[in-house]
Amino acid sequence: MALRPDEFYDHALAASDAERRLPLARMTGWDISPFEEDGLRVSPLRPPVLPEPARHGEDPSDCDSCRRRGEGIWFNDNWRLTRITGVGVPLVLMLHPLDHHDMADLPDELAAELGVLTTHIVRHVQALEHISRAHVYRIGDGGAHLHIWFFARPAGQAQLYGSWLPVWDDLLPEYPADVAEADAALVADALVASAGGRRRADAEASGG
Ligand SMILES: [Zn+2]
Repeated sequence: MALRPDEFYDHALAASDAERRLPLARMTGWDISPFEEDGLRVSPLRPPVLPEPARHGEDPSDCDSCRRRGEGIWFNDNWRLTRITGVGVPLVLMLHPLDHHDMADLPDELAAELGVLTTHIVRHVQALEHISRAHVYRIGDGGAHLHIWFFARPAGQAQLYGSWLPVWDDLLPEYPADVAEADAALVADALVASAGGRRRADAEASGG
């Protein structure tokens, strides 16, 4: 059994200083860290908040993802793929079930399809010229409607390896939108070819 929230907090506090700040450690010491340790300090630990505040879309009747089921660059009968704009890395895509599911309550049929689609999307992103890797994330602390992130890591930019990539993405200047849009279209076309589906949502009604 995991530590209770108060036990976990006390456990963490025991390693902190008088201001409840943990020492810099591990990731900040990596040579791919976007921050130099000199001058950097850790935020004071805050006590647990229970019950946790509701995530966006806990109530399906007030869920943006459900409202936006017609938006995206690729669709099939169960899923849609969108491009996230205003990012710093070459391409950020997001895969969403059309219907309101979180990951833990995804029906097995959709879970199996998620595995196949995730694999195909990674394959097609990594086939883009000058892209070395597609990083995949599911976090789910902000929105209740499942959404899987795909981050394209630019070739040769070895500082962007690993789990700091989303932080680098936030620091980098906005990537040229026209280039990202064209690359997203290549991925979506390749996904139609390899996994079926279509580029427009409106074909759903006609069964196309
Ligand atoms: Zn929803």
